[in-house]
Amino acid sequence: MKAMRRFKGIGACDGIVIGPAHMLAAKVIVLDRCIPRERVQDELIRLAESIESTDQRLAVLGQDLAQREEHEGNHLLECHRLILKSGQIADQSNKLIRGECFSAESAVRQVVDTMAATLDKLSDPYFQERVEDIQAVGDQLLRTILGLSESSLSVFTKGAIGVGSTLSPIDALRLSRMGFAGIVTERGGKTSHAAIILRGLALPYVPGIRDLCDHVHPEDTLIVDGGRGEVIANPDHETLILFQKRRDAKIGRTRKLLRASQTQPTVTADGVGIEIGANIERLAEVRTAVDLGAKSIGLLRTEFLYLNCPQLPTEEEQYRDAVAALTALGGRMATFRTLDIGGEKLPPCVRIPGGPNPSLGVRAIRFSLRRPDIFRVQLRALYRASAAGPMRIMFPLISSVAELCAARQVCESVQEELEREGVPYSRHVPIGAMIETPSAALTIDHLAKSCDFFSIGTNDLIQYAFAADRDNHDVAHLCRALHPAVVRLLKHAIDAANFANKPIAVCGDIAGDSAFTWVLLGLGVRELSMSPCDIPAVRSVILATRLSEAEEMVAEALELESAREVEDLVMGTMRRRFPLELAVERAEPKAHRHHFHRQIHPPIVATVRREAGSALETVSQHGGRRG
Ligand code: PEP
Ligand code: MG
Repeated sequence: MKAMRRFKGIGACDGIVIGPAHMLAAKVIVLDRCIPRERVQDELIRLAESIESTDQRLAVLGQDLAQREEHEGNHLLECHRLILKSGQIADQSNKLIRGECFSAESAVRQVVDTMAATLDKLSDPYFQERVEDIQAVGDQLLRTILGLSESSLSVFTKGAIGVGSTLSPIDALRLSRMGFAGIVTERGGKTSHAAIILRGLALPYVPGIRDLCDHVHPEDTLIVDGGRGEVIANPDHETLILFQKRRDAKIGRTRKLLRASQTQPTVTADGVGIEIGANIERLAEVRTAVDLGAKSIGLLRTEFLYLNCPQLPTEEEQYRDAVAALTALGGRMATFRTLDIGGEKLPPCVRIPGGPNPSLGVRAIRFSLRRPDIFRVQLRALYRASAAGPMRIMFPLISSVAELCAARQVCESVQEELEREGVPYSRHVPIGAMIETPSAALTIDHLAKSCDFFSIGTNDLIQYAFAADRDNHDVAHLCRALHPAVVRLLKHAIDAANFANKPIAVCGDIAGDSAFTWVLLGLGVRELSMSPCDIPAVRSVILATRLSEAEEMVAEALELESAREVEDLVMGTMRRRFPLELAVERAEPKAHRHHFHRQIHPPIVATVRREAGSALETVSQHGGRRG
């Protein structure tokens, strides 16, 4: 019997799951590389031979599975062989090698990404699920071409726990479709974008366990407690029973909460209405959000709709997506945040010189202002969609009045253009700024003269306040949401916005954590936007809260000098008053349940790293420039 072992990581997405470990394949990183024209013939042969030997390897594996009567696995491998031999990957890759002198691996990477992205766009879930198959085949082929060790092809068991080193937002999007019950990684943070995606799907996630992959082996039984950030490998019998009981109790509490709070309007016990919005990363979530009681979308992270795409979306695509969201909302307000790309959110088609600190570099509104061609396309799409329902436009990472005014000017110029073209749009789309930098938080009174509303992005505000990367678990201990510095920044910003009579919401992750509800209400926030799964617990706290209680707690907190003291006060108070809400399982989003019913191969996490080039180029599928 294997020895039980406990690991402590970061509780990034709540929920208790138990399942076999499944080691996630290492990323296949492909650097774009061109070959001299005289080597083209050799490269074509290299590709053909690699396809042949990959096929043979899959055949051997298939036979092995058949002998062990693992018929589903064998069937899956047969499908993969069909894809590999169908000629599509080979023909298109050959074209790129012949026409553009790409190396075999660069050509395959591009072809596979394009095929996957094309299928992913189709609304039929069947085709969307094939994306994983295409990516898996591509990964196997790339490993052969590059002489890398094989990724495990043991058939993935539904309900397994993915164990890996890192998780990018794109990986999280992919893995979430594959039926994993939970994910554990060596790196990453609670407010990383991958964590945000997994929370949207209620998939328990514990990042930040150093050297995890050295200690966990395939098929080890793992318990993951995503709320406490605890992982236990090969639990003994008593531990297993204990966690099974905890898991069942959590699920029971969640059901109770859902039944209790779904139908009433969200007002405090003393009658103050609180607007509850949803943070949305995928269009399918809109329906779930409404079902769970969201009155609006407080944050639509538009970049997530396109992170996986080989090319930036056209105006038409963005217009269609925006109209789809507005239609699903049926007259509720939607707040579209303009593209927040940069940092670790880089679609394969965008090149931004990273520099040593990408989160402090060209990201979000800074990128949009430097690429008005891309910015204008998005604004045109949004303004055109504004004819379909109430909406607001919000800029991410505003750090000065000048930046806000520059962004507004682009909006005005886009409106004039639509006016000239006779295209219908609403003339009353409010413009807002996200408060995510200390400079914005401290100058809200000035920003208020140039915008209609604010939303505080505490995930970024906290990382920038402490100069501590939100994705880096080595500095995660510094990012404390209840540090007096954060509480003071929030108080300053909220007071100034209220004084200027401009609505201010909070849409960072703390808005969806019921332990923080009193802090935010007590500071004067009346609008919260959160992952749909968090709505029931937060609503339940609000319904039972008198504002005066929250205000008293905040007044006391503002007198304290250390994060520890504030945490003790807030957590102690909230745990005593709301034991049920603070202990619930996240409500599972119904819209995604169908993703959890298939057996599939190990996840494919492939990144195309483009060669460093001049600033802010958009690279096409063929490595040429579009922008
Ligand atoms: C935030 O920073 O708090 C926020 C809501 O934006 P994102 O998490 O997408 O950076
Ligand atoms: Mg942010």
